Amino acid sequence: MQEKIRNIAIIAHVDHGKTTLVDAMLKQSGVFRENEAITERVMDSNDLEKERGITILAKNLSIHHGGYKINIVDTPGHADFGGEVERVLKMVDSVLLLVDALDGPMPQTRFVLKKSLDLGLKPIVVINKVDRPGARPAEVVDMVFDLFCELQASDAQLDFAICYTSAKMGYAMREMEHPSENMEPLFELIKENVHPPEGDAAAPFQLLVTNIDYNDYIGRIATGKIFNGKVSSGETVALIKRDGTISKARVTKLLGYEGLKQVEIAEAFTGDIVTIAGFTEVGIGESLAAADNPIPLPYVAIDEPTLSMN
Ligand code: GDP
Repeated sequence: MQEKIRNIAIIAHVDHGKTTLVDAMLKQSGVFRENEAITERVMDSNDLEKERGITILAKNLSIHHGGYKINIVDTPGHADFGGEVERVLKMVDSVLLLVDALDGPMPQTRFVLKKSLDLGLKPIVVINKVDRPGARPAEVVDMVFDLFCELQASDAQLDFAICYTSAKMGYAMREMEHPSENMEPLFELIKENVHPPEGDAAAPFQLLVTNIDYNDYIGRIATGKIFNGKVSSGETVALIKRDGTISKARVTKLLGYEGLKQVEIAEAFTGDIVTIAGFTEVGIGESLAAADNPIPLPYVAIDEPTLSMN
């Protein structure tokens, strides 16, 4: 299973087509919105986000395609709220840098791109809206290349994979000369260029909490990636607070991502991103770990220069 997971984030300037791209990918994987008339979309659903035109909460979704599970985590686009960008990027093994084929890269995508490069991630560049009249994909690729240079990307990062898409029309191409009818080329690029999550499936359970939410029925819920081991619903797990204090509680609900929904699951394994209920005191950046061997993951400090997956 771990081998078949790909964890990615999408970095995009507002309006460059992130939501439309995710919709096109979901559609190809057979997930259709239950009510097409309701146009409220996943990555836009937060009111505050809409109001400010930026993304504040990390919201994740998962796409099953060709035997793979692609988890897409959302990233804050602009300002960094208490190191949130780092925490989100710590869950992923690559980012899709989505750029409008006419407008080119915008200054606002720089921040998250820089963080990604600094953390050693190798982005995949997605040039979207190639159907737009006046689209200039080759020129935009050059602009992206220059931006990478400016941000001091490594040689490996500069050797980025490119995909050309029209999220609106639902197609993707690896080269402009090879038109395709669907999003398949993008899925292939993700499978080939993003490595599966690292981590030891046999080691004691460790999860880094990236997001906290509250649900009327199940209370405080914590979302994050399982860095090592596995966890089961009903299991007693240790919460390791930022100050090192350890308490234990039962996992009252374990939720996984299925398309746009979160569904209850019995078990979750290394590399996957899950939501856990049962911990009333849990905070962002803290660890959940095996009760009999509670080892915290490093608390993610702001502007931490290196990324260690284990
Ligand atoms: P987001 O803010 O990055 O999530 O962008 P949206 O997905 O909401 O897209 C912004 C606008 O661009 C919408 O009007 C989309 O219909 C349009 N759009 C998205 N992808 C494409 C595309 O591939 N081609 C064209 N022509 N328009 C697109």
